[in-house]
Amino acid sequence: MNDVRVRFCPSPTGNPHVGMVRTALFNWAYARHTGGTFVFRIEDTDSARDSEESYQALVDTLRWLHLDWDEGPEVGGPYAPYRQSQRLDVYTRAAARLLDEGKAYRCYCTPEELEAQRDQARKENRAPGYEGTCRNLTSEQIAAYEAEGRSSVVRVRMPDHEWQWNDLVRGDITIAADQVPDFVIVRANGEPLYTLVNPVDDIEMRISHVLRGEDLLSSTPRQLAMYEHLGAPVPQFGHLPYVMGEGNKKLSKRDPQSNFNTYVEQGYLPEAMANYLALLGWSIGGDQEFFSLTEMAEHFDVKDVNASPARFDLKKCTAINGDWIRALDVEDLASRMIPFLQRDGILPAEVSEEQHALLLAATPLVQERMETLGQSGGMLGFLFAGEEFTVDAEDAEKILTEQGHEVVRTAAEALQDLPDFAAEPIQQALREALVDGMGIKPKLAFGPVRVAITGRRVSPPLFESMELLGRDESLQRLRSVLAD
Ligand code: GLU
Ligand code: ZN
Repeated sequence: MNDVRVRFCPSPTGNPHVGMVRTALFNWAYARHTGGTFVFRIEDTDSARDSEESYQALVDTLRWLHLDWDEGPEVGGPYAPYRQSQRLDVYTRAAARLLDEGKAYRCYCTPEELEAQRDQARKENRAPGYEGTCRNLTSEQIAAYEAEGRSSVVRVRMPDHEWQWNDLVRGDITIAADQVPDFVIVRANGEPLYTLVNPVDDIEMRISHVLRGEDLLSSTPRQLAMYEHLGAPVPQFGHLPYVMGEGNKKLSKRDPQSNFNTYVEQGYLPEAMANYLALLGWSIGGDQEFFSLTEMAEHFDVKDVNASPARFDLKKCTAINGDWIRALDVEDLASRMIPFLQRDGILPAEVSEEQHALLLAATPLVQERMETLGQSGGMLGFLFAGEEFTVDAEDAEKILTEQGHEVVRTAAEALQDLPDFAAEPIQQALREALVDGMGIKPKLAFGPVRVAITGRRVSPPLFESMELLGRDESLQRLRSVLAD
C-alpha cells in the first residue's frame, strides 16, 4: 500500500443514487489502480435525516457492485469507527480547538436577524451571506447575549485571501475571498455539521485525494480554510462532472432514473452497472465501451476524467447490460435468473432438479435477446406454467382467428405422430403441413402455433420451445386452444 488514500463518504439519506454510486466507483478504481486505500465512511451526523435502512442500502450497494473497501463499516481499520455518529467526541474537540485559537467564534445572530441581513444585501445588489456581525464581540456583548438567553452557533473565521487549487479534473480554480463568508460548523443544539466533520475526518484519516461530484465544488474553499486553521496538509481535489438526465437537465436525487435500486430490481447486472457508470465521465480508451471492473482498475486515472457533463443514457445502459448477459456462461446466467423467476412466482423457493434442468436448457434460447434479468419471467414463464398456463387474451384475439384455428388444428395433426419430437423435425413437419400444405406464408403460419404454445406473439424460438415442452404438453396446448 502506498500513500494514496481515497474515501467514499455518503450520508445515509434516502436511496443510493446514480451519481453517488459513480463517485464510489471512481474512488474505488483510483485506489485499486494506484495500490492505495479505499476508505468507506458514513456521514451520519444529521439524525433528523439519516436512517439505518439507508445505511444498509449503501453497504449492500457497494457489496453488490463488488466494490470492496479496505477500511470502513463492517471491516474496521486504523481510524475506526467509520460512522461519524460514533465519532462525535472527535468533532467536539476540533470545534473547541478552533474556538480556543480564535479561528472560530460563537455567533448569536437569530434567524430573523440573518434573514434581514440577506434581504438588505439583495436590495443593494450584493451577494447575500453572513457579514461577520459576531466576529469580534467583546466579553460584555457576549455576556449580554448569554443573559438574554440567546443560543449560539459556532462559525469559522474565513482567512482573508483568495482560494486556489489545481483540480485533478477541472484544472486551476480560483475563488475570490468575498465569495466565501464565515460559515457555521456547529448548530445551536451542539450538532456538528458537514462543514466540520468532513474535513476533520479527511485530515484524521489521512485522505490524500478527494474525488467527488461537482455539486460539492463550492464547499472546497471552506474545507481549504479548515485545513489551514487545523494546520493539516491539503489533499488533492478532483470534482467529477455532473450527470445529466432526460432533457439535458441535471439528474436529481428525485429523478426515478437516478434511484440505483431500480436497476438492481429490474435485473441489471453488477458488471454492467459498473461498466456503464464508468463511462459517465471516463473512457478506457479508443472506442472500447465494454470492460470489466478489473480492466477499469488497471487503466483508471482521475486525470483522464472528462470535465464536461456526462449524460445518463438509459438505452445505452440497457444495451451494455444485454452485452453482459450475452457474455455470461449459460449456467451463470441461469442461476442469476432464478431469483427473478421466483419473484414472479414462476419458480418455487425450492427449485427442483427437473425445473433446473429445464431452465438450463431454455437459457440459451433467451440469452440472445434478453436485456435485463427482470425479463426472465415474461420470456420463460410459459415453460414452467404447467396447469396454470394461459394465453394472452389480446394476442389470442388477434392471431387465433378462424384461419388461426385451422392452422393450429393442422399443426396438431402433423405433430401427433412425429417420430422424433425435436426442434428440427418439428420445424420440418410444420413447414410441410402449413406452408406447403395450406399455402400460408411462414410468418402467418407459425404465429397461431406460437400463441398457442407460448401464450404470446413474441417468444423464444418456437421449435426449440416445443421440444423443451415435449410432445404431450405441446399437443395439449394446441388442442386446448381449439376447445375454447
Ligand atoms: N457526505 C457528503 C455527501 O454525501 C460527502 C461529500 C464529500 O464527498 O465531501 O454529499
Ligand atoms: Zn452572528
